[in-house]
Amino acid sequence: MKIELARHFGMCFGVRDALRLTYDLAQSRVITVLGELVHNPVVSAHLGTIGVREGKLADPASASTETVVITAHGAAESDRQNWRERGHEVFDTTCPLVRKAHRALECLILAGFFPVIIGRRDHAEVIGLSRDHPDAVIVENAAELAAVPPWQRIGVVAQTTQPVEHVRALVEALQKRLPESEIRFVDTVCQPTKDRQDALRDLCDANDTIVVVGGRNSNNTRQLVETAGALGRRVLQVERADELEAGWFRDSVNVGVTAGTSTLDETVREVVSRLGQISAGLQENALTGLLRAIA
Ligand code: SF4
Repeated sequence: MKIELARHFGMCFGVRDALRLTYDLAQSRVITVLGELVHNPVVSAHLGTIGVREGKLADPASASTETVVITAHGAAESDRQNWRERGHEVFDTTCPLVRKAHRALECLILAGFFPVIIGRRDHAEVIGLSRDHPDAVIVENAAELAAVPPWQRIGVVAQTTQPVEHVRALVEALQKRLPESEIRFVDTVCQPTKDRQDALRDLCDANDTIVVVGGRNSNNTRQLVETAGALGRRVLQVERADELEAGWFRDSVNVGVTAGTSTLDETVREVVSRLGQISAGLQENALTGLLRAIA
């Protein structure tokens, strides 16, 4: 069994910086992170062991510490303000590329475009993007385009971790549905997401089985799983190396490995090493079977 690692995989700079700042702060004080810092159970469990608390961004009563931390997924300005007005010191780990999406949406609205956000409405980033713009229509799939009103000018942005092909297809479908409208699309899908999706396509060309490492509640990890599945590959998603079972790989010849943007390098290394052990074990079993057959 051959094992290949994607050209681009795993943790992005936005998540890395957010983690670094949070760990630094936690050295000197007790802090509350407003939401899940990263969608990764390994990281969440570790943060708990060093005393980092978790609160809810929309509920100012959910944190009793003076210092609170906004996650890399960002927040609406009104939420940030609420926490400051309640006397909290607010540290912001919002990824610069999420900020860019906020700015793009604000500029479109200021220029008179009706706001449309392509993304998952229950995701922290989309909640942060839309909360200060209650008129914005959130679209997850083609069926939901029906909710976009026939305004003369419509401005579209996307959640940073959506596959860009999916976003472009929805923008095209929207233009077809409203041919009279001017649709302005600002591509806010982040480069690390694009890189990981592109690298995954190459990985799928050369491998029959794809292992995706990442949290089950991580949007970009889920998107990697969906893309590999749509390309007809057998996809296995794990959060940790010890979830991998040798029996899953009995029919695999080439196994590709990728990981979501909130997955630690260490976890990916452990997965690759476990796959190496599984491969060696399968080879040994096959050899033993062959020798028995000859005897
Ligand atoms: S996935 Fe993209 S937008 Fe999100 S934290 Fe990483 S770099 Fe930033």
